[in-house]
Amino acid sequence: IERSVKTKELNAFTTNTHQLARKQSSTSANRLSNRERTQKIRKLEGIPVAVKDNFCTQGIATTCASNMLKNYIPPYNATVVQKLIDEGAVIIGKTNMDEYAMGCGSIDSIHGPVRNPWNYIFRHVEHSNDYSSGYVSSGINNQENQLRVRNFHSSSSPIEEQNCENVDDWHVAGGSSGGSAVAVASGTCFGAMGSDTGGSTRNPSAYCGVVGLKPTYGLVSRHGLIPLVNSLDVPGIMAKTVDDASLLLNVLAGHDTHDSTTLTDPFQEFTIPEDISVKDLHIGIPKEYHAPGTSKEVIDTWQKAADIFDKAGAKVTEVSLPHTQFSIFCYYVLCTCEVASNMARYDGIEFGHRASTNISTEELYAASRHEGFNDVVRGRILAGNYFLLKKNYENYFIKAQRVRRLISEDFKTVFNSGVDMLLTPTTLSEAPLHSWFTEFDNRTRTEEQDVYTQPVNMAGIPAVTLPAALSSSGLPIGLQFIGQFKKDKEMLTVAKWFE
Ligand code: GLN
Repeated sequence: IERSVKTKELNAFTTNTHQLARKQSSTSANRLSNRERTQKIRKLEGIPVAVKDNFCTQGIATTCASNMLKNYIPPYNATVVQKLIDEGAVIIGKTNMDEYAMGCGSIDSIHGPVRNPWNYIFRHVEHSNDYSSGYVSSGINNQENQLRVRNFHSSSSPIEEQNCENVDDWHVAGGSSGGSAVAVASGTCFGAMGSDTGGSTRNPSAYCGVVGLKPTYGLVSRHGLIPLVNSLDVPGIMAKTVDDASLLLNVLAGHDTHDSTTLTDPFQEFTIPEDISVKDLHIGIPKEYHAPGTSKEVIDTWQKAADIFDKAGAKVTEVSLPHTQFSIFCYYVLCTCEVASNMARYDGIEFGHRASTNISTEELYAASRHEGFNDVVRGRILAGNYFLLKKNYENYFIKAQRVRRLISEDFKTVFNSGVDMLLTPTTLSEAPLHSWFTEFDNRTRTEEQDVYTQPVNMAGIPAVTLPAALSSSGLPIGLQFIGQFKKDKEMLTVAKWFE
C-alpha cells in the first residue's frame, strides 16, 4: 500500500482484481442452469470494468484509500458490483480516490496521488487566443469533432505539438473518483464505477475527458457503497461514450431491497436512438453559473454549445437558480454533520484500524481514529460535531436543510416553467496543476471546485458531463447537462445528440 509513486505512474488502481473477479464471474455463470445459459445473453460478458475503492467487493480489499480500512476485506459485494458480475463483467481492479471520497483532486490517498493521463501525451498547444475554433463537439458535425476531442494526434491546424510531461509538476485527475476516470481515459476498461456526493464522478470525468453520469438519487442502489453523505451519495458511471454509460445504467438501475432509498417504480431499460432531434427542446442556461474563478475558455465553450443547440432549432433561454450561491456553505454543513455521524462507527473496536495503545478504552478510540483518518476526514468530523451540538443544531443543521430545500425548489421552478434541461459548465477550468491545487491546503481548493456540481446532488436530479472541447493547452473541458428527476433517459438522449 505504501509503495512509492513513480513519476510516470498514473496510480489509478489500488488493487488488481481480475483473477479473483474471473473466478467470481464464472461462479455466477455456473449458477445459471444450462437452459438459462443458452437463452440468456449477458449484457457485459467479458467486458472489463473498474470499481472505485469505496464499493464493497467480496474477498477483495476495500480501503476507501484510508488507513482506517487498509485491512478491510468485505464479506459481501455492493449491489452494483454484484449486478456487474451477474451480467458477465470482469472487475479488473479497485480504483484510487480521495480518502473516504472527500476531495476534488484524488491526491489525498494512502495509495498516493492519481495523475491525469493527459500529462503524458503529446498535446496540441495553441498560441492564439482563438483556441477553440472547431473544437466544440456538436451533433451537427459529429464525427469530425469527436476526433478532435478524443484523438490526441488528429489536427491539421497550425499548432505546436508538445510533450506536456512536466517532471516537477503535473495536472491532477480530479476527484474524488480520479482513479476511475483515469482507468477509463487511459483505455484500461470499458467503464468504471465512481461515486458522486457533490461532483466526485463528474469533476474527474471532465478533467480526464470522459463521460461521467450522476443518475437520479435512488435509481441505483447504494448498498455496499461506503457512505460519505447518505442523503447525497449516488453511484456514478464513467465511460467513453453516452451509449456505453447508458448500457451500464441499464445493468445497474432498479429497486434494491437492501437500500430503502431506491425508487420503487420499475425501471424501464432503454437504448438511445440514432436519429435524435432537439427541435422541440427547451434548454435553460442558469445565469448564476458564472462563479468566480471560471476560466474564459470554459465560458466560451459553454456559449458555443448553447449556440449549437440554438442553430439546431432548440429554444435556448437564460434561467435563474437564485439560491446557487448558498450551495457550498449548505453542502459543508450537511456533509460534515453526516460525516460526523457516519464515521462514529470507526472506533477501532467494532470497525476499522485498531491502535496498539492499552491505556484505556477512550485512549484506544482516540489513537485509532487519529492514526486511521487523515486530517481532512478528522477536520470534517470535528466540524460536523460542532454543528450538531445542541446549541448549534437549529442554527446550522436545520438551517442548512432549509437552504437545501430552496436550492432543490429552484430546479423545480425552472423545470415547471417548461425548461427540459439545463446546460452548464462542469468545472471552473481544465484540470489544474498539482502545485496550484495544493497551494494553500487541500480543503480550500476542494470547497471552491464543486460549485457547478453540488446543487444537483441537493436536488437528487440526474446530470451528465461530456468532453466538449480542448483548451489552449490541449486539456479537455467538460460541459454538464442537468435533467429532471427520473428523466435520466431523456437527458442522456440529448447528451448523445451533442456528443
Ligand atoms: N468534493 C466534495 C467533497 O469533498 C464532493 C465529494 C464527492 O462527491 N464524493 O465532499
